[in-house]
Amino acid sequence: MATIHSYGATKEVTGSCHLLEVDGVKIMIDCGMFQGEDEDKNAEAFYFNPADIDYLLVTHAHLDHVGRIPKLVKEGFKGKIYATSATMDLAEIILLDSAKIMTEDFQTRYKKALRKGKEKRLTKPLYEPLDVDKTFKMIEWVNPEYDEYYELCEGVSFIYRNAGHILGSAFIELSYMDKGDSKTIVFSGDIGNDNELVLPDLDRCSKADTLYVETTYGDREHQPIELTIKEFKDVIVKTIEAKGNVLIPSFAVERTQELLCLLREMHENGELPKCKVFLDSPMATRATAVYRNYAQELTNRCQENVQEDGTVFNFDSLIYTETPEASRGINDIKSGAIIIAGSGMCNGGRITHHFKHRIWDKRNAVVFVGFQAEGTLGREIVEGSKWINIFGEDIIVKASIHTINGFSAHADQDGILKWISKIEELKKVFLVHGEYEAQKVFKSVLKEKLNLDAHIVGFKEKILI
Ligand code: ZN
Repeated sequence: MATIHSYGATKEVTGSCHLLEVDGVKIMIDCGMFQGEDEDKNAEAFYFNPADIDYLLVTHAHLDHVGRIPKLVKEGFKGKIYATSATMDLAEIILLDSAKIMTEDFQTRYKKALRKGKEKRLTKPLYEPLDVDKTFKMIEWVNPEYDEYYELCEGVSFIYRNAGHILGSAFIELSYMDKGDSKTIVFSGDIGNDNELVLPDLDRCSKADTLYVETTYGDREHQPIELTIKEFKDVIVKTIEAKGNVLIPSFAVERTQELLCLLREMHENGELPKCKVFLDSPMATRATAVYRNYAQELTNRCQENVQEDGTVFNFDSLIYTETPEASRGINDIKSGAIIIAGSGMCNGGRITHHFKHRIWDKRNAVVFVGFQAEGTLGREIVEGSKWINIFGEDIIVKASIHTINGFSAHADQDGILKWISKIEELKKVFLVHGEYEAQKVFKSVLKEKLNLDAHIVGFKEKILI
């Protein structure tokens, strides 16, 4: 008899954390952070004792799947962590960045609270960079290879399969003994969009008794990738030829590497007008170095025409700007600059400085290539704000604004259905990691198209499998 408790990503898309218990062994799958509206849940105590968890299996390095691991360690977890080596490398970058942001944010709030005499009421950061260091140095990490069989403990084994979502991502097939029979449960993590841009397609899952599947886009289809790429290339060429500049807010992991891959392709094919491309994000630069280290896992398309230095993401016009001075230096360029900078949703980071310097000029273009959540500056611009406020200054928006959909790292409804349709002997399906409305739609489509019943998992719900 096995049970699963879900402590996140239930009727929402963040906070992934599932606890599987088989014969007294406690196996956690992901320990992610809540983001957006539910952020406050991160500070709550875990609903279990972290010291009791024997193993943590990580599907991939996105913050909503790894973001609470340092908290877990801080509060007593001493087990082993399993993650592909690319996931481990990316997780370190992502967790350090998250710790830094939380610590800086705390310092700012602390100064304000001091002036009001309310400093004792402040909630401390979830963890600090030192806690992240401990997570990697004091805990034993094991790096499974894709498609290899591992025995976790007596009677429990697993295989990581390539999920094609971000570098290192995996879905996990976990097998255990139940009254003498071997049973398999699959945790999808986040499964990729078959766009073959930087990462190969999602692997097939051939057999499972039980499936926990993400449903981020359970209610919609993405626009075809070739159309997306055409839109992207058109804006770049048009803006640069008209002596403008292009600003692209981008997430550091995966989206940035996809853009670099496309821009390099344009450069190699002679489609890119004379310009300079700036990757103005230290975090994206670090993430790109990890992608480079695992070049053998990237698509042929991405590896074609690799230059003599052997680096996948370099081409003549590309400049990585590390220091704040180098970043400020971009402001002196009048035209012909393509600037990729974070944060992806524009609620901070170097992109806001570039907006201040360029968004008021109608020759320029802002290109959104990722989701913009409610309440972010990115969303405000996408929704057509004529004025934005940056660092206390009102700035008019005259640059052209472009929203390019279709770059998603997640499978769409059709993609998830196709993946599930290949799984043999599937008996139970549980929907996680999706907004409730999207999950309801997916549940009915799953019944209609594949004749499978699914259950939408609730927060803290205990499922017997
Ligand atoms: Zn993800």
